[in-house]
Amino acid sequence: HDIATLKRAKNLPGAKGVKNIIAVSSGKGGVGKSSTAINLALALQAEGATVGVLDADIYGPSVPMMLGCEGERPSSPDGKHMAPVMAHGLATNSIGYLVTDDNAMVWRGPMASKALMQLLNETLWPDLDYLIVDMPPGTGDIQLTLAQNIPVTAALVVTTPQDVALLDARKGIVMFNKVSVPVLGIIENMSMHICSQCGHAEAIFGTGGAEALTEEYGIPLAGKIPLHISLREDLDAGLPTVSRWPDGDFTRLYRDIAGAI
Ligand code: ADP
Ligand code: MG
Repeated sequence: HDIATLKRAKNLPGAKGVKNIIAVSSGKGGVGKSSTAINLALALQAEGATVGVLDADIYGPSVPMMLGCEGERPSSPDGKHMAPVMAHGLATNSIGYLVTDDNAMVWRGPMASKALMQLLNETLWPDLDYLIVDMPPGTGDIQLTLAQNIPVTAALVVTTPQDVALLDARKGIVMFNKVSVPVLGIIENMSMHICSQCGHAEAIFGTGGAEALTEEYGIPLAGKIPLHISLREDLDAGLPTVSRWPDGDFTRLYRDIAGAI
């Protein structure tokens, strides 16, 4: 860590017991950042780490639903701070636990950025090996706040093999390069569709895109996750695949990525 990073860490009382902050990001929405962030957090936990998840998607939080915690609220032991909501062994916090109407959806950038800093600083995070940050799409205010004010250890960029997703993933990599956050790896999500009936694999979003990106920027390919109906169904049920099927094939893929991290 450079001095600027250490200074920032001093100003982040809420996260002082957090060893590594990992941002799971991409330029584009709907590519599977939240799915990846959550399954990866569970995979790191299965490898023996203590892990938390900070939902930074202020405008479209999906952590509460995907972890089966919709309607829960963090308790406040001292009236000032929030105790994280525990889900599947993960310490979590999300604007989705706090705002139950649609008001947050129309906040301007500075307000949304402030909410993110509060979620980080006013949560009583336990000592954690990893705090996984589920990022919103894009390279706007929230992403910059995070990159500039939070001592992010490293980022992971999620993309599908589709050209438009790769274009946006590239923007994300450039942003992290600008603010000197190392990108640990690229995760290709929805890399092949695997039919749940016959097992047939089909490259719905194309092939080879993530490999091209890894070569272009010299960033390793951290892993490939197929498009499969059970991954989606498990998340919709609030029982992420890694938690539901500890010995499953998809769990192995996430655990391989966790091991590489
Ligand atoms: P993002 O956070 O990038 O907007 P999500 O993680 O919310 O994306 O994923 C969008 C939708 O696609 C969700 O309904 C999720 O369950 C589904 N999904 C994500 N990855 C996969 C996958 N590999 N296979 C099947 N469904 C997936
Ligand atoms: Mg998301």
